[in-house]
Amino acid sequence: MRKRAAQSPRAKFIIITGGVLSSLGKGLTAAALGALLKAKGLKVSMQKLDPYLNLDPGTMNPHQHGEVYVTDDGAETDLDLGHYERFLDTPMTRRSSYTAGRIYSQVLSKERRGDYLGGTVQVIPHVTDEVKAAILSMSEDELDVVLVEVGGTVGDIESLPFLEAVRQLKGDLGRGRCLFIHLSYLPYLPTSGEFKSKPTQHSVKELRSIGIQPDIIVCRGALPISPESKAKIALFCDVSLDAVFTAVDVKNIYELPLKLHAEGLEKKVSKLLSLGRQEPDISPWRALVERQARLSKTVSIAIVGKYGELMDSYKSLKEALGHGGLAHEAKVEFHYFNAEEVRLDNVEKLLKHDHGVLVPGGFGQRGIEGMIGAVNYARTRRIPFLGICLGLQCAVIEFSRNVAKIPAANSEEFRPNCRDNVIFRMTGWYDPNTGHRAQRDPSDDLGGSMRLGSYPCQVAPGTLAMAAYGAPLIHERHRHRFEFNPRFINPLTKAGLVISGQGPADPLENPAHPRPKLVEIVELADHPWFVCCQFHPEFKSSPMSPHPLFKAFIGAALAERGKMEGSKKG
Ligand code: GLN
Repeated sequence: MRKRAAQSPRAKFIIITGGVLSSLGKGLTAAALGALLKAKGLKVSMQKLDPYLNLDPGTMNPHQHGEVYVTDDGAETDLDLGHYERFLDTPMTRRSSYTAGRIYSQVLSKERRGDYLGGTVQVIPHVTDEVKAAILSMSEDELDVVLVEVGGTVGDIESLPFLEAVRQLKGDLGRGRCLFIHLSYLPYLPTSGEFKSKPTQHSVKELRSIGIQPDIIVCRGALPISPESKAKIALFCDVSLDAVFTAVDVKNIYELPLKLHAEGLEKKVSKLLSLGRQEPDISPWRALVERQARLSKTVSIAIVGKYGELMDSYKSLKEALGHGGLAHEAKVEFHYFNAEEVRLDNVEKLLKHDHGVLVPGGFGQRGIEGMIGAVNYARTRRIPFLGICLGLQCAVIEFSRNVAKIPAANSEEFRPNCRDNVIFRMTGWYDPNTGHRAQRDPSDDLGGSMRLGSYPCQVAPGTLAMAAYGAPLIHERHRHRFEFNPRFINPLTKAGLVISGQGPADPLENPAHPRPKLVEIVELADHPWFVCCQFHPEFKSSPMSPHPLFKAFIGAALAERGKMEGSKKG
C-alpha cells in the first residue's frame, strides 16, 4: 500500500519550515493556508513533524509544551493539530503527527526484526526513508494537497533529518508536486523606522546550505512590510518578488485566512502547484470575522485549573468557550484561578463575579481540593458548571462527600486502596471500539496507558445533555486513566446524581449478570445547568460548528448573568 502511494501520489505537498525564532505561528499560518485551499474545493489535510525524541507529546508537561491534543483515533499530539482541525473542520489522524522519536522507534523496530538485512542503519537513508514514508502515507486518503509543517527552527540539530528527508522528497515526487514555504520573522526597528531583513536572509541561507530553496517566503511582522524590504528579501533569498508575503499580527486568529487571501498567498501556491484557478469561497470566514466583531454582550467564566501559568495548556478549551459564545453573539471573558489558591473559605469571594464555573482536565493531586471547592460553590450557589474529565471526577467526589454522605470519597489517583474511591481504575470493561473486553495496561508506564480517542456514548432522554446534543448517540474523545466507579452508581443516583451519558452495553454479556457500562456524563436535576463529562468536548469544537456542550454552557451562563444583573437592579 505504502509502496504504491510512494510511486504515484495524487496529492501535492506543501512543506512549511520556520526560521529565526520559534513561536512564529507556523501552525496557524499553515492551517489558514489549508483553510483557503479547502475553500477552493480541494481535498486538504495536514501533518506535523516534531523534531523532539518523545514518542508523542503525551508524556510532556503542559506547563512546558502546552496542551496535548487528542485525535479520534487516539493519538496524543501537538496542539497545532487542534488548529488544523479547527481551521479545516476535518478530523486529523495518527498519521498527521510524527515526532523524531516515533520515526526512530519505527527504524529501530525494523532493525530488530532484521528488515535491513544486516546493513548498517544510518540517518540517511534509513531515517530519512522512514520520514518520507510517513509523509507519503498521507496521500493514502486520496487528497489533493497535504500541508506538512516541520516543527522547530531551521538550524536546530534535531530537525536536520526531517529537512534532509523533505529535500529528497522534492526530487522523488518530480516537478510541480512539492513546494517549500519558509516562515520567517522581520523585526521592525522603530528608532530607524525600518524592517530588518538580515535574520531572514540568514535563515534562508541556512536552509539553502541543506539544499532547500524556498519557493515562497512569508514574513511575520507587527506591520505589513514595505515594498523595499520585500524587494530586498526577494533579491537576497532568490525568490520572485511576488513570492514574498507578510503575515501581520492579528488580534483574532480567524482573520488569518482573509489576510493571507488578500495578499494572494493561496493564488501563488495554486499557480506554482497547478491547483486550478478557482477562487476560494471565503464568505464563511468573512461572516465569522464580522460576527466576532459584532459581539454585543460579554459573559465571564471562571476556569479553576492547575496549568494556568502557560495559557497554551488550555488552548482548545478557550477556543471552544469562544465558539460557544459566538453561538449566542457573546464574547467570553476567562478568569483563570490557580486551584491551589482556591479554598472553601475564599471560593465565593474569588468567583462571585463569574457567570459560569469550569473545572478542566488535569493529572495529579496538586490543587484537587481547590477544584472540589469550586464544584461545591457552583453546586450550592446554583451557578452554571461544566466539569471536564478531572472536572467530572472532582464533581463526583464533591457530590459523594457532601450530598451522598460518603465522607472518605476520593479517587484512586490521589488515594490508592481506599474503600470509598468513587473514581477508580477500571479493569475488564467492554470496549465498543474493538468489541472486546478491554484490559487495562497493568504497567505503571505513563505513556500510552490511558483510555484514548473517540468512544460512543448513549445520551439519556430528558436530560440537560440531551437538550444540548439533541441526539441519542454521540462520539467524544477521551484521555484519562480513571473512571466513575460503577459500585457507586446506586448510592449516588439515589442521592440525586443523574447519569445522563453512558457507554453502550456489551452485546455479548450474560443478561443474568449485566456488566456495568462506562459512565460518560453526569449532571444534576435540581440545578440550572450542572453537567460534567468524562471526555474532552473541547477537541471537537470549531468556529464554524461550536460544540453543543459549550453552546449550552454559555447559554446557561448568559441566563445567570441576566439573573445577577436583575438582582443588582432590584
Ligand atoms: N487524571 C485523571 C485521569 O487520569 C483525569 C485526566 C484528565 O482530566 N484528562 O483519569
